[in-house]
Amino acid sequence: MPRIFIAAGSNLGDRRHHLETAFQNLCREPALKSAGCSPVYETKPAGGPPQGNFLNTVWLFETVWPPEKILAVLQEIERKLGRVRGEKNGPREIDLDLIAYDELCVERPGLHVPHERMHTRWFVLKPLCDLAPQWKHPELNKTAAELLAALEKDQTA
Ligand code: AMP
Repeated sequence: MPRIFIAAGSNLGDRRHHLETAFQNLCREPALKSAGCSPVYETKPAGGPPQGNFLNTVWLFETVWPPEKILAVLQEIERKLGRVRGEKNGPREIDLDLIAYDELCVERPGLHVPHERMHTRWFVLKPLCDLAPQWKHPELNKTAAELLAALEKDQTA
């Protein structure tokens, strides 16, 4: 069954509760089978206006649903949890991104998988590595572990 990785972040309100509620909503979907959760990391906001720290995590699911259906489910959960699309990169109750769908490239209007900025974000790569260090980025041809090592090297240079 295809394996998908979902990155979740929250920096508004009861952050841990938002992550837990989003996860429970996903687990209730008949075609999503939970197969792993990374630790939760507290991270500084990347860009955008001054705002509070995020809690970030990545979840692994197995599914027969196609990527478009997954994105629709994520957006519906974001709506349900009260996310209002305001300022770009502004604070949010919940942000859910489809990071990877197996090792496939998906290019549709409004959907790019692997997520376009995943390889530049420590808060995505670190928890992804906790779950699947050998997952290989199909466009960059590097594993999650290699992408994280390169990013951490850049940041300490
Ligand atoms: P954001 O405001 O960060 O949640 O970005 C959401 C927008 O990114 C939506 O309009 C999606 O259509 C688009 N998008 C493109 N690729 C992805 C992806 N892999 N996962 C989630 N959203 C995506």
